[in-house]
Amino acid sequence: MNSSAESRLNLLLATSNDTLWLWDMQQDATQFGSPWRSMLGIADGAPLGNGIDEWLNRVHPDEHPRVSQALQQHISGITPLFECEHRLQHQDGSWRWVLLRARCLRDEAGRAVEMAGSFTDITEHKVLDPYTRLPNRILFLDRLERSLSRLRHARNHVVAVLNLRTHLAQGYAELLSHDQMTQLARTLGERIASEIRPWDLVAQFSDMEFSVLLEMVATTDDLPAIFKRLLEVLRKPIQIDDNLVSVHVAIGAADSTVIASNEEQLLRAAESAAALAQEHGDNQYVHYDPSTQDKLSRRLRFESELLRAIEDAAFEPHFQPILHLDDGRLAGFEALVRWPRAGGIVNPDDFIPVLERQGLISQLTWIMLQKSLVSHERWIAAGLIPASSRVSVNFPPEQLQDPGLVGLLRVMLDNVGVATSRLKVEITERSLVSDSGMVQQTLLALDEAGIEVALDDFGTGYSSLSMLHRFELDNLKIDRSFVSALEESAQACSITRAIVGLAAASSLTTTAEGIETVPQLRHLRSYGVTFGQGYLFSRALPADDVARWVSEDLPRLQRLFTELASEGG
Ligand code: C2E
Ligand code: MG
Ligand code: MG
Repeated sequence: MNSSAESRLNLLLATSNDTLWLWDMQQDATQFGSPWRSMLGIADGAPLGNGIDEWLNRVHPDEHPRVSQALQQHISGITPLFECEHRLQHQDGSWRWVLLRARCLRDEAGRAVEMAGSFTDITEHKVLDPYTRLPNRILFLDRLERSLSRLRHARNHVVAVLNLRTHLAQGYAELLSHDQMTQLARTLGERIASEIRPWDLVAQFSDMEFSVLLEMVATTDDLPAIFKRLLEVLRKPIQIDDNLVSVHVAIGAADSTVIASNEEQLLRAAESAAALAQEHGDNQYVHYDPSTQDKLSRRLRFESELLRAIEDAAFEPHFQPILHLDDGRLAGFEALVRWPRAGGIVNPDDFIPVLERQGLISQLTWIMLQKSLVSHERWIAAGLIPASSRVSVNFPPEQLQDPGLVGLLRVMLDNVGVATSRLKVEITERSLVSDSGMVQQTLLALDEAGIEVALDDFGTGYSSLSMLHRFELDNLKIDRSFVSALEESAQACSITRAIVGLAAASSLTTTAEGIETVPQLRHLRSYGVTFGQGYLFSRALPADDVARWVSEDLPRLQRLFTELASEGG
């Protein structure tokens, strides 16, 4: 090498973070470049071990076997290059990540006599998120391992791990660019840090997931206050350029009074608790105890059975009759889903939110449509119920966003030989607020196909009067909460009357939900409500019970209507 090349090389080495390394294998003598000391915190005058052990003794025990094996393979000539990532212990007990690259020099017989190479400190790249520069899972586990080992010497405090899962409200995730998501994560990280002590650690595990290590908690009684503060501070809206966004949070926590032996297990416990907190809904926390794992396993079993039930179309419609409120004639049925499961029948409120989260809810609609329409058609064909009867099926909001929905409905109805006019679609106000124009088009297409649309649970959501004009609707379903209050609350009476007036002004019919008593029925008839359903008439019936209800219960109910008519009520 000429002298200018040599001086360039020296300059490069002096400015790089790499430590050059030479090992005379016959003498077992090693030489390390000066960055070795600074990388590992070894004081300038302190002696270095003079042999391969200076390096090998610092290798993390978990990685020792892998490193030794790779070294042997290279020495024996199996691999052309010795390259391996591993951790080395710093003088302060922490771990540095290094990338070792080396090659043997061999004598004429091919025996390795010398090895030369370099160590590159890759800790930063390995342990920090590349965008937010927050510590990642690797660094978190390193720190947690050290705090658990300190705990073994001084058992006078508690180490706690928190796993925080945040998510943006629907629609916002698509709105933010990658840079804005980074900005959001940074802000969330800062807010978390502001609620804990300077020596505690905040790490980022993914875009919106964080973990916190609380190293010196006096007692577990102190923890709930911290969870509540974190929930509060994270829920406050965040300004990201022109957008004001807010996040939902679930916190899971686990502490060393329950698991102290292993950092991975303690973190996993906090993660399980966070998964459970998410199940409980937004802005909840769960503190791990031995039953958490059980609950989570039960939940996972439930979810996998649910998945199987969708594949096997194992859901059954039950049918709740809907009557004309003027004379008690049968107007149709609402199909309400039931899941027959080994432990008994499961009601929709217990599994519909899960199906929504899993994105499987529209598959349920198709199962319900198929099964309920086929049964209903059979009853008409058998002369059991009038040909004017309709089946109402509940549609989730996202289904109305599907531009192909009405086309698919036509094909499906055609396949089972059922006229479109037999179907009534129930949607909720939630479908209408997220409107993008698509919902408007879908409702128009349903109207053109002769399929009526009812707005379910009217008055409980975000209804605005403008919706009734903007969207093609046929019927308003007055929520059960108004109906059940009719007997005690003058306000419920006036609201109900107002809804009926509003509907009439928009040429819509009305259906009262949840009628349980004759006095409620009297009120609703006097306001001119068109249809009604509720336990007074019938609960939702399995398909096999409908014939009996029609022959035994319906005539009894019609006598009740005749009596009411003769009272003039
Ligand atoms: P919804 O569509 O408002 O259905 C009415 C609910 O009120 C039904 O509960 C029904 O059994 C109940 N109900 C009817 N009359 C009375 C009464 O007189 N008193 C009382 N206390 N309750 C009454 P269910 O079957 O548990 O359904 C709950 C909700 O689950 C439904 O509310 C609907 O939003 C949803 N759901 C049911 N089936 C389906 C389905 O196939 N697909 C979808 N996406 N959602 C469904
Ligand atoms: Mg409904
Ligand atoms: Mg309803």
